[in-house]
Amino acid sequence: MNVSPLLAWFAENGRHDLPWRIDRTPYKVWVSEIMLQQTQVKTVLEYYSRFLSAFPNVQALAESEEETVLRQWEGLGYYRRARQLHAAAKIIAGRPGAEFPETFAEVLALPGIGRYTAGAILSFACDQRLPILEANTQRLYARLIALELPVTAADAQKRLWETAESFVSAETSSESPCAINTALMDLGNLVCTPQNPQCDVCPLRESCEAFRRGLTEKIPVPAPKMAYEARTEAALLLENARSEVCLLRYVPGEWWAGLWDFPRTQITGGAPRDELQKFTRETTGLEVEITEEAAKIRHSVTKYRILLHVFRGRLVSSANARKETPSGGEIRWVGEKELETIPLCSTGRKIAEMKRKGE
Ligand code: SF4
Repeated sequence: MNVSPLLAWFAENGRHDLPWRIDRTPYKVWVSEIMLQQTQVKTVLEYYSRFLSAFPNVQALAESEEETVLRQWEGLGYYRRARQLHAAAKIIAGRPGAEFPETFAEVLALPGIGRYTAGAILSFACDQRLPILEANTQRLYARLIALELPVTAADAQKRLWETAESFVSAETSSESPCAINTALMDLGNLVCTPQNPQCDVCPLRESCEAFRRGLTEKIPVPAPKMAYEARTEAALLLENARSEVCLLRYVPGEWWAGLWDFPRTQITGGAPRDELQKFTRETTGLEVEITEEAAKIRHSVTKYRILLHVFRGRLVSSANARKETPSGGEIRWVGEKELETIPLCSTGRKIAEMKRKGE
């Protein structure tokens, strides 16, 4: 593959101003790549600098409490990424020298790092000859080879990785793999867009099979649609006499493990008020009266489309109050100041905001 037109296009049109491209240490590239998984560049830009100020290197990240890391991550979603980032930092910091590893096998063995992320870190930060395959390059490669299979199919993935390898292979090009991979990502993002790819300005048009065969709008073939499930939940905004709110902490194995939330349960057929009151009693030992519905929040988690009813409640008795939920999650009364800094799941943060604004 002749990559000269691609690199010439990139020199003029690439996104050279992204902070993780200006200072490419393995640690910084790693943080950016984990943040960019399932999150738009625009959003990551808001978090990246703040996160690096809080945790400027692997050691600082490893030495921080998980709760501090989750608070910095709050709003980016997919919190498993933050927990795995933290776990991997601890592994690296526990090794002699505490340096970020620079072999593919070692990087791949870290929590939360798959083939793409390992290749991205080592090609972007160390210019190693490794291929990458993420959403933008996947679409680009699928069109280049006119792949008429859903990109998630095993055969399709094999062919896409082979295409990725063909760009950075030493046999086909002596150019920098970092520059080639970055250029491919930008080309996918800026030119080979999901709808209306701009083939007239594409530097790879001559070798694009989908363009040659008039298939650019049909490829990539969409993956089979996820079947969504409706789900109803209820959450309780419960204050005590000191205006503190009752929060529970999720444990490993639950959604949002490590984060805090207001008492919240799935509604399985009964009246939301009754089920929430029963859940609160069984989970926290608190007797409450549900007073009013304060809000309805619609959101999604994996395949679930959730309607969350938010109720206010009045504390009737704390005689049997528990310190832990039956699954071992901490229960705590939290004051206004701490509520601003404690890591909450996204709907928990919305409810905290409602309380702060007096809604
Ligand atoms: Fe994508 Fe069009 Fe370029 Fe092919 S020619 S890679 S479809 S932008």
